[in-house]
Amino acid sequence: MTDRVTNWARTITYTAEAYRRPPTLDALRALVARSAKVRVLGSGHSFNGIADPGPHGVLLSTAALPPVIEVDAAARTVRVAGGVRYAELAREVHAYGLALPNMASLPHISVAGSVATGTHGSGVGNAPLASAVREVELVVADGSPVTIARGDKRFDGAVTSLGALGVVTALTLDLEPAYDVAQHVYTGLPLRGLDFAAVAAAGHSVSLFTDWRAPSFGQVWVKRRTDRPAVDFPWAPPAAGPVHPVPGMPAANCTEQLGVPGPWHERLPHFRAEFTPSSGEEIQSEYLLPRPAAVDALEAVAGVREAVAAVLQICEVRTVAADAQWLSPAHGRDSVALHFTWVRDAPAVLPVVRRLEEALAPFDPRPHWGKVYEVPAAGLRRRYPRLADFRALARALDPAAKFTNAFVGDLLAG
Ligand SMILES: Cc1cc2nc3c(=O)[nH]c(=O)nc-3n(C[C@H](O)[C@H](O)[C@H](O)COP(=O)(O)OP(=O)(O)OC[C@H]3O[C@@H](n4cnc5c(N)ncnc54)[C@H](O)[C@@H]3O)c2cc1C
Repeated sequence: MTDRVTNWARTITYTAEAYRRPPTLDALRALVARSAKVRVLGSGHSFNGIADPGPHGVLLSTAALPPVIEVDAAARTVRVAGGVRYAELAREVHAYGLALPNMASLPHISVAGSVATGTHGSGVGNAPLASAVREVELVVADGSPVTIARGDKRFDGAVTSLGALGVVTALTLDLEPAYDVAQHVYTGLPLRGLDFAAVAAAGHSVSLFTDWRAPSFGQVWVKRRTDRPAVDFPWAPPAAGPVHPVPGMPAANCTEQLGVPGPWHERLPHFRAEFTPSSGEEIQSEYLLPRPAAVDALEAVAGVREAVAAVLQICEVRTVAADAQWLSPAHGRDSVALHFTWVRDAPAVLPVVRRLEEALAPFDPRPHWGKVYEVPAAGLRRRYPRLADFRALARALDPAAKFTNAFVGDLLAG
């Protein structure tokens, strides 16, 4: 490749032989049909080699395809091109008086790339973003279109698919009537005596932030839907003014706080859509584990907190409801998600990631597919009881493994 393409954080340089941005669906289909190895790049917000096709493959970006967003207000659904980002999707959907049930912390991520990796927001009742998907349109290895809808026996393998089945050209999502959210931040919640279940249930979406310099949460962000009864938050005092989750960073980049109600899509992400981060000085890791183990897992992190704090920008603790997607890190279990935004210094961070993984091992953690982890693929297979079904689906749709790269190949081996 003449121009080296990197991920958003510039921590991965893709090794592909060619980088292609087909402008039409027909061009995309022809490109897929004639290529031996293909991986799709969404908005590039993953932190590992999941999108890299390897040195003999084509890295196919969906960014030049028409950014289709078709709302069916009567059916309360939207059909969206895979490369569209949540920020644009949310604005359009809101214009019809409709809403998504939840969003991730950053709205700049592509829809297809997000659901492919099991991306999630927070909330005890909120499953990963993939749970809103009702239909997936793919271009498979021979260039032909395949549509898989909810109810199809392949569906639970087809959304959180790690890009291994084909190019997701469009998705149809369920919507609900638009709602308002008021965002409150509380400061200084100790880990000791934490009633995690109650705190996590104090709003539609709750995030606890800590830098692990102390065994406590410096901030708790509570996003309350105004159409639901308010829940008290007696455990910590409210923040005096707007804050950024990372101490010292400007709160101006964050969505409005102090309980001012506003549209769902301007409160559910932590970061404003109009603040455009071009690249991030960070590395991320995240682990989903069974929610009843939340406090024990947090105590385990507290046990290595000095090592963690030395390379950490911020840790965020969220909840994710179980879903049915075979490769979802929340598959079959209501989860707590422990997220770590590290400094962008891999040699310093990776030994800490390994130490953290040792501390969390008793809780059977499933790493976020789009983030940095050290546990080998062999150690992950038994954590996914439907992996064999996914392997069979990938072989059926892609017999020559055109969409399998090293990352996916390691997982599906065996
Ligand atoms: C600042 C920041 C904040 C984040 N916040 C959250 C968060 O709140 N919650 C969370 O869970 N995660 C979060 N993430 C992680 C992020 O959501 C995932 O890495 C997600 O995969 C990003 O989507 P993308 O389009 O950028 O994916 P990419 O990195 O481009 O691709 C990821 C995977 O999706 C596949 N893919 C992409 N598009 C297609 C397509 N059209 N067809 C087939 N396969 C495709 C790729 O091949 C690859 O396997 C965050 C990341 C960053 C950098």
